[in-house]
Amino acid sequence: MGVRFPPCPFLKMRMMPNRWSSEQNKIVEDLFKQGKSFEEISIAVNNHIKKLDYDIFFERTPRSVVFKCMNLGLISSKELEDWDKIRKVKLSKYRFKDRDKVKKNVLERDNNSCVFCGSKEKLEFAHIIPFRMTKKNMELEGITLCYEHHRRYDEGDNELTKFIFGKMNLYYPEYSEFYKLEIVSCESHKEHAKIIQSPSSR
Ligand SMILES: [Zn+2]
Repeated sequence: MGVRFPPCPFLKMRMMPNRWSSEQNKIVEDLFKQGKSFEEISIAVNNHIKKLDYDIFFERTPRSVVFKCMNLGLISSKELEDWDKIRKVKLSKYRFKDRDKVKKNVLERDNNSCVFCGSKEKLEFAHIIPFRMTKKNMELEGITLCYEHHRRYDEGDNELTKFIFGKMNLYYPEYSEFYKLEIVSCESHKEHAKIIQSPSSR
C-alpha cells in the first residue's frame, strides 16, 4: 500500500478500491500479450495507479499480477504454481548473497585459523547468530572455527560461546551495543551462554 501524503483529518481521504478496475485489467491483458514480464506489468499498473487522484492507494505486486493473469484466463493455475516455485528458488538465493565476500573477510580477520584453538585445518565459516534468524551474511555475525569447534559452538558450548563473545568485543568495540551474552539455566542447573541480538538493535 502506498500513501501519497500524510492523512489530514480535515480532508476526506480518497481511498483506492482494492478491486482491480477495468483499466488495470486492460493494462495487464495488453502488456501480457506483448510478452512483458510480470514485474514489468506490475510497474506499469502502479504507474497508472499513481496518476489517479487517490490519497491512499494499493500497489500491485508482481505476484498479484500473476494471480490476475490467471483470473483473466491468460495463464493456467499450473503456470501460477510454477511461477511460485521459481520465486521460492529465487528467494532462497538470498542465503548465498554476499556469502563469499563475507567469508573471505572473516577468514582474513581471524588470521586464517580457528579463533579458539588456532588450527588451520578444516576451517569453517560459522554463523554466530543462527542464519535462519538473521537471513543475512555479515562480518559481525560470522567467525572462523575448525570443524570440531563449529560443532561445539552450535551445540551451545559455554566456554566457547563466552570466548567468541569476548573475541567479537575485541574486534568491534561497539559489539555489545548490538549483541549480548545471555545466560540461561537449563533443567539440570547447568548454565548455558548464548549470543543474541539486542532487542533494541533489531
Ligand atoms: Zn578449533
